[in-house]
Amino acid sequence: MKMLIGGEWIDKKDTIEVKNPYDGSVVDTVPSGKAEDVAAAIEAAEKGYRINRDLPVNQRIRILSRAAGIIEKNAEEFARTIATEGSKTIREARKEVARAVQTMLISAEEARRIVGETIPFDSMPGSENRVGYYFRFPIGIIAAITPFNDPLNLVAHKVGPAIAGGNAVVVKPATVTPLSALKLGEALMEAGLPPYVLNIVTGHGSKIGDALVTDPRIRMVSFTGGVEAGKEIMKKIGLKKVGMELGSNTPVIVCADCDLEKAVENSVSGAFWAAGQNCIGVQRIYIERSIYAEFEKRFVARTRKIKVGPQLEEDTDMGPMITEGEAKRIEKWVADAVKKGARILTGGTRTGSVYDPTVLTDVPPGCTIDVEEVFAPTVNLYPFETLDEAIAKANAVNYGLHAGIFTQDIGKAFKMIKELDVGGVIVNDSSDYRIDMMPFGGVKQSGLGREGIKFALQEMTEPRVVCFNL
Ligand code: NAP
Repeated sequence: MKMLIGGEWIDKKDTIEVKNPYDGSVVDTVPSGKAEDVAAAIEAAEKGYRINRDLPVNQRIRILSRAAGIIEKNAEEFARTIATEGSKTIREARKEVARAVQTMLISAEEARRIVGETIPFDSMPGSENRVGYYFRFPIGIIAAITPFNDPLNLVAHKVGPAIAGGNAVVVKPATVTPLSALKLGEALMEAGLPPYVLNIVTGHGSKIGDALVTDPRIRMVSFTGGVEAGKEIMKKIGLKKVGMELGSNTPVIVCADCDLEKAVENSVSGAFWAAGQNCIGVQRIYIERSIYAEFEKRFVARTRKIKVGPQLEEDTDMGPMITEGEAKRIEKWVADAVKKGARILTGGTRTGSVYDPTVLTDVPPGCTIDVEEVFAPTVNLYPFETLDEAIAKANAVNYGLHAGIFTQDIGKAFKMIKELDVGGVIVNDSSDYRIDMMPFGGVKQSGLGREGIKFALQEMTEPRVVCFNL
């Protein structure tokens, strides 16, 4: 596919191969963008900003709604793209497409609700003759940098509200999964988005990232990705608005009074969805001692039923990791934990980029797999004695995106809701439950700011005050 700059689909001599992570076959190629392409995209976006700022809201609504319709009409093609360039199975990919349709529709709906309010200027003695109001104004050009694991919907989460708010965007999708973002660009162009408003530059973050994030014409960097890249970008961007949606090391707490079957089923799904490459995927499960043995038995049995295979086969439950390198990384992390005393209850084996669903116990505190983000199909089980202990352990990491809790006791639920240091608590479901209109984001190193269309729109627009001196 080609990249999108100023309404033109641009090819380059230098290309990057997009490979199916399961077997390494080449799915397509994309241009290997350079700093000069980023400069051209930002120049185009300057025009795009003025065009979209002046576009009546009713037209932005129409374009975003039409784009949602185009994605829905071509849902299977979008799903196949997600499931061949990335790790997701075709069934997981279909769910992502359905969510991306929602994300575009919600963006259209929220465009209608970008409102200000009147200001009681006469509340200030001496200002009796003044009237006025504020309205929300687009911020300008937004750089949207996105990760590989939700290659369509996480792009939609930036592009949708940016367009709704009257901005222009330069997207840099993950190098391993750029095709879904480009297809979203095609849908928006077909929907009638004026040229220049959306620009998509493909290429390696290490080569073109600086040109994008340091350019003073960029008013906001909206980044979703790993903590290391996030920190690197924060060091460089200077005086710009920033949205940081980073990683996590997600805890789930299972109390003895819970619905055990539901806790097992939902936590298995949360741990191995997208081969564990999910920012709110279940990584650490704290289980009350009295039900620990039973939970462990059922959890391991359920995990063993997961069918691993090629993403496009209908009965595949879990696909590969995004690269063989990533699968080797987790193999090393597990080996390190085992050396320090952890026990593998199931899995722990790798074939190429496939790492089998893996359950660990007796993981010593402080080892990498306990404290860092695994972003892999592995999960740790730990027994706990008291709720205070479980909460303290759940909080004892540098991340805080979501937590899942399972209990029928409302008192315990409210205690955990209050005391867990996270951006969202999911009660009686896995931590990885999310819908696209809710505020989404984390505390500590999991990020800054919130996405979820209404909340992203607040970040992507600014209040402008108008005061009449009568
Ligand atoms: P990543 O390696 O941090 O890359 C994310 C994006 O940043 C890619 O487009 C990458 O480009 C680009 N990038 C890397 N270094 C850059 C730099 N110095 N300047 C500008 N751009 C740069 O993350 P990933 O492996 O794709 O995704 C996994 C991570 O994303 C996990 O940590 C996960 O938790 C996080 N995530 C968070 C959320 C959330 O909402 N909180 C959602 C999904 C994923 P290249 O691809 O060219 O390297």
